[in-house]
Amino acid sequence: MLAGAIFALSLTGLPVYGQSASSSAASSSVASSSVATSSAASAASSGATSSSVAGSTNTEATALTFSLTVTNPTAIPLASITANETSLATIPLPSTATPGATNTFLSGAPALPNPTSIVSSNYPTLDKVPPTDSDEVQQWIAEVAASGISIPHITQTVLGGCPANAEAAADTSRCWWSCTGCVRDTDVQECPTKLTWGLTYDDGPSFYTPNLLTYLTANDLSATFFTVGSRCAQFPVTLQEEFMAGHQIAVHTWSHPYLTTLTNEQVIAELGWTKKVIKDVTGVTPNMMRPPYGDIDDRVRNISIAMGLTPVMWTRINATATFDTDDFDVHGGLASSYGVLNNWQNIITQANEIDTGFIVLEHDLFEETVQLATGYILPSAMNQSFDIKPVINCLNKPLSDAYIETNDNSTNPPAASGVVTLSSGAPGSASATGAASSSNSGVGLKVSGTSTALTLSGGFAFIALFL
Ligand SMILES: [Zn+2]
Repeated sequence: MLAGAIFALSLTGLPVYGQSASSSAASSSVASSSVATSSAASAASSGATSSSVAGSTNTEATALTFSLTVTNPTAIPLASITANETSLATIPLPSTATPGATNTFLSGAPALPNPTSIVSSNYPTLDKVPPTDSDEVQQWIAEVAASGISIPHITQTVLGGCPANAEAAADTSRCWWSCTGCVRDTDVQECPTKLTWGLTYDDGPSFYTPNLLTYLTANDLSATFFTVGSRCAQFPVTLQEEFMAGHQIAVHTWSHPYLTTLTNEQVIAELGWTKKVIKDVTGVTPNMMRPPYGDIDDRVRNISIAMGLTPVMWTRINATATFDTDDFDVHGGLASSYGVLNNWQNIITQANEIDTGFIVLEHDLFEETVQLATGYILPSAMNQSFDIKPVINCLNKPLSDAYIETNDNSTNPPAASGVVTLSSGAPGSASATGAASSSNSGVGLKVSGTSTALTLSGGFAFIALFL
């Protein structure tokens, strides 16, 4: 059983979670007694950078603005899904993978490693930006340097999001998604086929991931999990179950920082350690990443690509409409469960209007987010005409294309081959303005830096915290 998870609010109102010795993670020597979600702390200090579809109504929403067509019969009542709810016993993992077993969903998968091999002494401190002077990070730095990928000289941002970085926010040449919605051709921001939903969950594995896995398995659904390296080290058995159940595992950094605030070497350390712990636990290395908070610019983008990681965002219609359910904020009391579902309904409306498929931001970190997913969002989605699948499959690629060891390079060239090229090798060149990303602006899926900058000049509407 995973009973005993203790959730509480810190004095600052930021979510902090601890665990009891009875959790499954106790089997891991990396399990820690109390781990603060640095992600939430960073979010609060960021000033935030974007808003979800329903904008600022989330916190106050006390009712649904639409009629739910279907829910899970065992769903927790919406009024009970709050920051103050009493945590329920979690569901045990559907099964426990056997070391040496082979992933039946993954062609060419190597034997599953033994999770007892995941020991804390082999990894950096959990939830801290890893040091860059270790042998491992030095090797990854050398590999990036030898990749042939040019890392543009873009200055680091400071915490505080767009308002605290006015000059950078206005600099469309850096293609900073957070403030301009700029994407490059290398970024995945939607699924190509209309009504196809690339299902993603961020920030796990967590105590409540088994609840989600059980529901997904029962309903024959698969997802992409953007996992935090520190959580992978903390919950290796859960990560193995995710992997063995046929879900796609991808990188969401080691400590969940704003990547544009870090040095090149720190970005490399964040991504490298997460790749490594996932490889150590599952036997394979992911080739997709999602930047925490969507915080990516051409510097972070090219480092990711040089490390074989394709950036995956979530669908963004315009500066004030992203496909973010805002589910993360329920745990901190910054959004209501009603607001999240109202967001979801707005996303559904938008998803039916655009010409492509879509990707939505959700989380498996908290009890509330999993309750909303399994009780409401997924039952609702399955009752509609959406084709729900992991991101790799929504791109019409097999699961084997999601990992370096099983990918067929001849049919699915590595990320590095699609690198962003800056014609002068420096930011500010014509090819780096984001203009190339405006081709789909007619349906609003890709927003050029230029057009969004105009939106920005009209005032900031970025107030919702999100991951
Ligand atoms: Zn996140």
